[in-house]
Amino acid sequence: MNRIELVVVGTVQGVGFRPFVRREASARGLSGFVRNSARGVHIQAQGEPAALDAFVRAVVAGPRPSGQGVAIDHLADRPLEAERGFAIVASERPVPTTATRASLPPDLAPCAACQGELAGAGRRHRYPFTSCTACGPRGSIALRAPWDRANTTMAGFTPCGACAAEYADPADHRSHAQTIACPACGPRLWLERAGAPGGPGIGPRIADGDAALAAAVAAITAGAIVAVKGVGGWQLVADATCEAAVAELRRRKHREARPFAVLFRDLEDVARACVLDAADRAALGDPAAPIVLLRARPASGLAASVAPTSRLTGAMLPASPLHALLVADAARPLVCTSGNLAGEPLCSDDDDARARLAQLADLWLGHDRPIGRPLDDSVVRPSPRGAVVVRRARGFAPRPLPRHEPGPTVLALGAHLKATVALAVADEIWLSAHVGDLDSPAAIDRLERTAREMLDAAGVSPAIVACDLHPGLASTALAERLARETGATLARIPHHAAHVAAVAAEHAITRPLLGLAWDGMGLGDDGALWGGEAIVLDGPRAERVAHLRPFPLPGNEAAIREPRRAALGLLAAAGLPRGPAAAWFSPAELAVVEAALARRVNTPITTSVGRLFDAVAALVGLRGRSRFEAEAAMELEQIALDEPVDVEPYPLPVGDGSPRVVDWGPLVVAIVADVGRGVPVARIAARFHAALGEAAASIVRLAEVRDVALCGGCFQNTRLLAAVTGRLEALGATVWTPRELPPGDGALAIGQALLASRRSRDVSRDPR
Ligand SMILES: [Zn+2]
Ligand SMILES: [Zn+2]
Repeated sequence: MNRIELVVVGTVQGVGFRPFVRREASARGLSGFVRNSARGVHIQAQGEPAALDAFVRAVVAGPRPSGQGVAIDHLADRPLEAERGFAIVASERPVPTTATRASLPPDLAPCAACQGELAGAGRRHRYPFTSCTACGPRGSIALRAPWDRANTTMAGFTPCGACAAEYADPADHRSHAQTIACPACGPRLWLERAGAPGGPGIGPRIADGDAALAAAVAAITAGAIVAVKGVGGWQLVADATCEAAVAELRRRKHREARPFAVLFRDLEDVARACVLDAADRAALGDPAAPIVLLRARPASGLAASVAPTSRLTGAMLPASPLHALLVADAARPLVCTSGNLAGEPLCSDDDDARARLAQLADLWLGHDRPIGRPLDDSVVRPSPRGAVVVRRARGFAPRPLPRHEPGPTVLALGAHLKATVALAVADEIWLSAHVGDLDSPAAIDRLERTAREMLDAAGVSPAIVACDLHPGLASTALAERLARETGATLARIPHHAAHVAAVAAEHAITRPLLGLAWDGMGLGDDGALWGGEAIVLDGPRAERVAHLRPFPLPGNEAAIREPRRAALGLLAAAGLPRGPAAAWFSPAELAVVEAALARRVNTPITTSVGRLFDAVAALVGLRGRSRFEAEAAMELEQIALDEPVDVEPYPLPVGDGSPRVVDWGPLVVAIVADVGRGVPVARIAARFHAALGEAAASIVRLAEVRDVALCGGCFQNTRLLAAVTGRLEALGATVWTPRELPPGDGALAIGQALLASRRSRDVSRDPR
């Protein structure tokens, strides 16, 4: 007989891991115990050596949510103890230390068994809070580790006798389910109308329970907009097939054109509206239930206002039993969008929702289980290289990433767009859910609260606070303040180096890595707005080895919303006639912008590939003004959907010199000529994408690094991703793309943390 002690780290809490361990141990005649600890799952087991070996192998291969692995962190031989059987015992009390902490699991969409119970005749028939050890709310209701009901917003609901019996029954799929509940003892739905004009916030209660759901569905199918308390925040729900309802939702939300996400009942319903392949189906069926960007069918049955200019539909399957009941009862797809005004963070608090959604919703369908942490819906885009994570939130956060290069505790705050917070502690990196663009005081406040909550939860004070190089960002100001407050060192990390470093951090790449960091814009160390960079990351150093030929951007920030300005700047820099860009301006506007260009007033220089996309979209006549970030660039990609990938690229030569310059001059001349000849825009767009693939290949061929990272928001464009990857792999390069992280600014905090950490080690090695 032997006795061993294991600690299993990774996402092992809230996934039915302890009941699994007990089953595996009991089946092999082992005795001992399993419990949640602050570090993961703690096991002691004793029995015959062969049985113990088989048990350890089974534990390593244990339940893995969303493909996450588990690792046995610690293995010790212990003296034998006198005991019978194998038990699940109470959790260790959390001890705040800097040691590895148990990762709280992300929220999981209803499993097949629970869906069956919703539809069946049992006691959870149509109960919107049905969950089990394999599914249900997790990170959104967790207040602290470890994963025990007392540490969640379910703490106030005491299980009834029937639920307690299921909890205690090792054979039940709710054995030790922390979220166990039923209509007799669990959360309940309610439906409210807005308060009387001038009256207090809480309005008249209309209905409770199933009647609340029925009344909400009746209102939605009659064209109303209903605020629904979703998994990680309040959402606005409307009939996706009703043009009047969707158009009204756009008007109230002040959301002009950005596509709305659509909730479908099942895969068959999605397939009626969108083209689905195996990768799309896998992404939709992921337990994270993200919004999946899919190609819409021409006759999708959806209202035109769902996605006015996009050929893609953001589709999702129910993330909770409440969503499943809503969309099944409505018997049609539903627009399901975050409950906020454009530019504000979503509401997670009930009173906040009543107040802030007062002008947006007709009714409020809520319940009495508080949301512990706000989580937007996640967004993914399937690609031949696996799903690209566009927004990482519900279903992914708060699962941490392994930290492959240990170092000091670093808090990193990202930049401006798609802000997230990263906290690198011991051997893990915690990445907050998507906080959003820091355009409003509410969003900036949420960034600060998120950072403080993460420090609190980890019980640490940072040695380093990392931020962007740009001194004018709200995240930079917050970093400066937190560094002063905590006595931490401040590390200002260049934007595009951080993009490359994020890929290095995710894939544990310590050797030199050539990153193509192509995005909208970030401040470079020469004061220009970078975004078409090739950067070699080598330890703590980042060297810019190539970039896009610079061009002026008249109007600076205004150019982000006006691709016509980028087009004009491009033509001016090339010394070409302004015709193709001038068509987007009135004569008076044109005179003002030309004067600004001539005198370089409010006209920074940029090397951004994102702005090059904008400029080309304007030159080919697609769009002079974007109504949301990157609208023009997305249209340029989508118009080429039916074109082959292997079209002849436009010339986009890479010059000599250090750094090398990617000259868009010949490309612009060729595009203007093709526009003049009436070549179809789809063909021009396809050849433009191919040109960027060819330029990437030239950069890599000339560099001496064969590991290449593709990062920056431009690589959400799956056509660009395919064009570049295809050319690079043909050269024999190893291509690294973000997997768990978004390619865009949502990953910057992770890269900042890695670079700040590497720099601190470099300093300590070389005291000069
Ligand atoms: Zn379940
Ligand atoms: Zn119950």
